This record gives sequence, structure tokens and C-alpha cells, in this order.
Amino acid sequence: MHHFSYVGNNLHCESVDLATVAQLYGTPTYVYSAATLADNYTRLAKGLSGIDLQICYAMKANSNLAILRHFANLGAAFDLVSGGEIRRVLAAGADVKRSVFAGVGKTEPEIKLALENEVFAFHVESEPELARINHVAGKLGVKAPIAIRINPDVDAHTHAKITTGKSDNKFGIPLKFAAAAYEAAAKFPNIAIKGVQMHIGSQLTDVNPFVEAVSKVAPFVAELKAKYGITYFSIGGGIGIVYKDALASGQQSWWDNQPADKRPLTPEVYGAALLPLLKPLGLKILLEPGRNLVGNAGVLLSRVEYLKRGNGRNFLIVDAAMNDLVRPAMYESYHEIVPLHRDTTRPALVADIVGPICESGDCFAKERQLQQVGEGEYIAFMSGGAYGYAMASRYNTRGTAAEVLVKGSTFELVNARESFETIIANEKIPAFLK
Ligand SMILES: *Cc1c(COP(=O)(O)O)cnc(C)c1O
Repeated sequence: MHHFSYVGNNLHCESVDLATVAQLYGTPTYVYSAATLADNYTRLAKGLSGIDLQICYAMKANSNLAILRHFANLGAAFDLVSGGEIRRVLAAGADVKRSVFAGVGKTEPEIKLALENEVFAFHVESEPELARINHVAGKLGVKAPIAIRINPDVDAHTHAKITTGKSDNKFGIPLKFAAAAYEAAAKFPNIAIKGVQMHIGSQLTDVNPFVEAVSKVAPFVAELKAKYGITYFSIGGGIGIVYKDALASGQQSWWDNQPADKRPLTPEVYGAALLPLLKPLGLKILLEPGRNLVGNAGVLLSRVEYLKRGNGRNFLIVDAAMNDLVRPAMYESYHEIVPLHRDTTRPALVADIVGPICESGDCFAKERQLQQVGEGEYIAFMSGGAYGYAMASRYNTRGTAAEVLVKGSTFELVNARESFETIIANEKIPAFLK
């Protein structure tokens, strides 16, 4: 469910006409719905009620300060993957003390920053990392709280670039070596064993891989509790969202019309399947959802620049590009594309929807059918809230897009479009070329 729909023939986010936003702030611009963000969070929390739950929003999906503050206000902690993300949480006025620090390549300065801010735990991915955390904690005279990431060797059946729980991925420690890793951890004087972690992949639309992974790891979790008195089990993130039919999926009627076995994964189904496996462990359960909390809560607005009629192929050239939204180029992802102004009397157009960047990969959709739209009209890329702005680059000296947050009938710019001056601010011509 989300809060994007046509009111009359104009696409709205909550009660705001998106064309108004596009005209005011220009394009490309990301627009997020505060109501959708809140709904996604509360639904997930409710889906797993009855256990001691700590939701750590995986902020790499979308780390805008306004979104961080919104989730913090709702009670969320964060899943952090860099020193920059730790500093973002602080800048948002939120708490690092309930947040976890993940990632395979934590540097010494990052470990120090996390310890100074009393991070809830480090999610450790290797034995050399354990040694490094122990070393930094020793220098600070503290004990570092840790959990080891287990790789359960479960196939998440998702895109190769976002599957993480197979034995050939770089992530985690295989289950059969995990007991030895904990024994090694227990010997370090400045390490405190607190929990256990796993994360099997992203954009999962079926609950079974989650069930398989939790079932596989649960006996080991119980052992760790008995042996080291661990207090929590983090089952990671990965719950998928709807990309096809994204606009329609905002309506309850759409869900009601899907056959039960074809329905995308919901927080309710996820909770119902996992609660019976998690409850008996008697531990705090951490979730690290990223995409599921923000994905359907954002759209990318773009302006049509040209309709180029080619040899048997049409190209709709828009002002958004792969530097703004890289998912189609990087993961062959599908984003639904809709006009901001709907006109059912117009003929359909079949076109490749492309950006202006000098790469054939700068293509959002091939032979996509949509209502005919012309120069100066606006379109929206649906389901752009996760891994959209967060993965933006400045390729082709294009500044990053603006970001806007909507709440009811109000909206505010929460990130200004990047100016040319900021793009080149740190560059200089060396003296020997002058
Ligand atoms: C990326 C990541 C997440 C979030 O994944 P989503 O698919 O966006 O929910 C959670 N935990 C870890 C360790 C991650 O790397």
C-alpha cells in the first residue's frame, strides 16, 4: 500500500499534485510520502508483534536526513555500513546506541567512531575484522559488542548482484565455521559477544528462503545463547516490494484481486511465517529492512525532452538518467513509468525510455507502452524510494536530483538540487599546469 494515486487525472502524492512539485523545483526530483514511510514501518512492527523487536532501518537504501529523522521519530534504529552513515544518523539527531554497524570492510577510523558513539553492536564478517575491532577497542579501553554474520548458504532466488546468503558470496562466515569463529571471538579481551546475524539477500518476494534460513540457523542460535549468553538474533532485511503494477498496488483492491499464492510478500505473511520460529528462542530480534520501508514511498519525477522517431523504434528522451536512478542499468530492474497527467483519449506510444547520458546503458525501459506524452510533459518512475537517490552519481557532470518530502497537503524540499559550483568545489588545477 502507498499514497500515490490519480486524483481526477493528475498523479498525487498524498494530497499534493506532483505536477506542482515538478514545476516548483524542476526535474529530475525524487518525491517521498511521509504517510507511506510511516505505514511501512508500523505494518512491519505490527507483523512481528509479541516479540522483543528492534527495527534497524538499513539506511543505505535511502539516507536523506529527513527520512532518518522520520523513522527515528517512529522508534527506529539503524543498520549502518560506513562512518559516513554513522555521522548521518548523528546529523539527523537520532541515536547510534541502538544501531548496528555492518559491512565487510570496516576501517580503523570507522570502528573508532562507532565505539565512541556506543554503537549497539558490530556485525562482524571475518576473523581479521574481529582482531581489528579488538585492537581498536583495546586502545580506547572499552569492550566492543559484536555479533558474527552467519552465511546460511540459502538461495534467495533474487538477482545475482543482490543475493548475499550463498556460500560463494563475500558475506558472512559459513555455518560450519561459525562455532570456531565464536570461540575465537571469546578469546579476545576487548570483544563482548552479544548476538548473531544473517542477511540472505534483497528484493525477496517469497517467504520460503527466510523460513529456510531461520530454521537452518536457529539451533546454532540456541547453542550460542546457552554458551555465551547472547541476547539478540538479527535476521537481516531483504523483504521485497512491488515493481510491476506499482501504481495499482497502492490500492487494497489490487491486493484483494491477487490470487493468494501470487501475492507479493507482505509484512503480515513474513511475520506469521517467522514468529513461530523466532519466539521460542527467547531473544531480542533485530530486523534490518531497507527497501521494504522506503521503496514504494518514493517516485522520481522527470520531464520529457524529445520524442525521437527512429527506424522502427521510438525513443522517449527524458531529463532523468542513469546517474539519478541506476537500478535499470545496474540490475536490469523494472520501474513502472506513468504520466503525471493522465489522458485516456490519447493513443498509446511504444518507446524505449532513455536518459541523455552518452551510454547505451542509460535506458530505463525497452519497448515500453505508455500513454503518448510530449515535450515538456512530466512522467514518474514508480517505486524509486530505495536505492534511487542513494546510488546517484555525477556522471556527465549532472548534479544529483532534488528531494522533496510530502506530508498530507504540505511538502518541503529536503535536499536541494546539486549545483555546478558544489560539483567542482573540491577540484583544482595544479600549479604546474598554470
Ligand atoms: C543491504 C542490507 C540490508 C537491507 O536490505 P534490503 O533488501 O534493502 O532490505 C540489511 N542488512 C544488511 C546486512 C544489508 O547489507
